[in-house]
Amino acid sequence: MTDCSFQLESTYSDLPPVLFSQLSPTPVSQPKLVIFNEKLAEEIGLNLSGMSMKDRTGLFAGNLVPEGTEPFAQAYAGHQFGNFTVLGDGRAIVLGEHLTSSGKRIDLQLKGSGRTPYSRGGDGRAALGPMLREYIISESMHALGIPTTRSLAVVSTGETVYRETELPGAILTRIAGSHIRVGTFEFASLQGDKAITQALLNYLIDRHFPEIKEKENQPFALLEAVIHQQAELITHWMRVGFIHGVMNTDNMALSGETIDYGPCAFMDTFAPDTVFSSIDHKGRYAYANQPYIAQWNLARLAESLLPLIEGKKEEAIAMAEDLLNSFEQVYKKKWLSMMRSKLGLLLAEKEDEKLITDLLDWMHGSQSDYTNTFRDLSNSALFTGELYASENFQNWHSRWQMRLEKEEQDRESSNAQMGSVNPSVIPRNHKVEEALQAGEQGDFKPFHDLINAMKEPYEGGEHLLPYQAPPEPGEKVLQTFCGT
Ligand code: AMP
Ligand code: MG
Repeated sequence: MTDCSFQLESTYSDLPPVLFSQLSPTPVSQPKLVIFNEKLAEEIGLNLSGMSMKDRTGLFAGNLVPEGTEPFAQAYAGHQFGNFTVLGDGRAIVLGEHLTSSGKRIDLQLKGSGRTPYSRGGDGRAALGPMLREYIISESMHALGIPTTRSLAVVSTGETVYRETELPGAILTRIAGSHIRVGTFEFASLQGDKAITQALLNYLIDRHFPEIKEKENQPFALLEAVIHQQAELITHWMRVGFIHGVMNTDNMALSGETIDYGPCAFMDTFAPDTVFSSIDHKGRYAYANQPYIAQWNLARLAESLLPLIEGKKEEAIAMAEDLLNSFEQVYKKKWLSMMRSKLGLLLAEKEDEKLITDLLDWMHGSQSDYTNTFRDLSNSALFTGELYASENFQNWHSRWQMRLEKEEQDRESSNAQMGSVNPSVIPRNHKVEEALQAGEQGDFKPFHDLINAMKEPYEGGEHLLPYQAPPEPGEKVLQTFCGT
């Protein structure tokens, strides 16, 4: 225990005890601070100024637990690749909750902080590479304007973790609106005591959906809100070509944030069936499947909430089904509007959907780069080269130009609109891999350079050129690993 210039609370531990276990992180032998996200600390009003470098490192390593803090690991279940399993934080501990200057309650969680009652056969530790990956991708997602958990720090532990090979160990400090997942409700429901699910629901509503407090049928109101929340999140992913890779129900956060960056990656060449994860053999979590999987996961949430619904069971099921079916329309509407914005279109015209899918079909057929194609569209100076000279593309381009004529906004505004939703840079998988490999060898320059390149992903500039080019054939990284 140590004195700290900040206080952490733990309202989560007022919930029924089956939902968590109180315990402290397991100390590590030689912690070294690899990166500390000073800007994020400032943003959330976490004042570490009174702490020496050594104490800060100790805090992010789990060696120092602030006075009065009661850390805990959370229990949850989940459908992993469709199969139900009881899980829980096997290698993570929530240090506590911090109130930001604007009064928002956020979790500070250490990932890789040692064994917990939920570790099963695991060692409770994390390897450096995957923690650096989570840092890069989560901070990039934030810069891209996508709801996400954040990364506050990475500490290398000086200890070895044993996976297929020996790897350097690390701990990531994660900031999240909360760590309540669809799988948390599945776990609560599994207990067979309605009061537990009800307590969790009340807590979730208090923390994330205060507007529902006054509503009558709260489980349904929540489901409806989460349908919109998740449809919105997936639409963002589709916009930038992000593939989560393990959309298990335990990896779907009800804060609406993207969570658990495992084998995730961004798509280079546009192909709807793109999969990076080495364990996703059947393409369950492929790029184009993500909205369907979100809906499938929400059905698991609905099932967990059903016991709370008063009245006839059949009626409740029918109502839940209707709600779940609405996901398709909700998502489609958001997706269409997002794709329109990628083409500089504000008005909604009947022809738009075909215009959009024809472009995507052309991109797929011609193996175009997803990010660069959309960026090129708003900059006619870049509009050169064999690919764009093709008759197919030229025909599509004329149609698009004609469609733009119908807009009330001028071309400059359309271009500005496109520039604000079409990133000029994404953390390309080969660049991420390069940064992780160097980091594992103790060279963190490529890691820091990549993070810097991702700071303002909608701005251009010469310095971004090395990060904008798609991988050469020999550079392509087609598989990513969970690293658990
Ligand atoms: P993830 O793939 O990170 O979402 O993890 C799935 C589940 O496995 C979660 O319950 C994790 O806490 C658990 N887990 C992953 N890696 C480890 C590990 N090294 N030791 C203990 N539990 C782990
Ligand atoms: Mg997980």
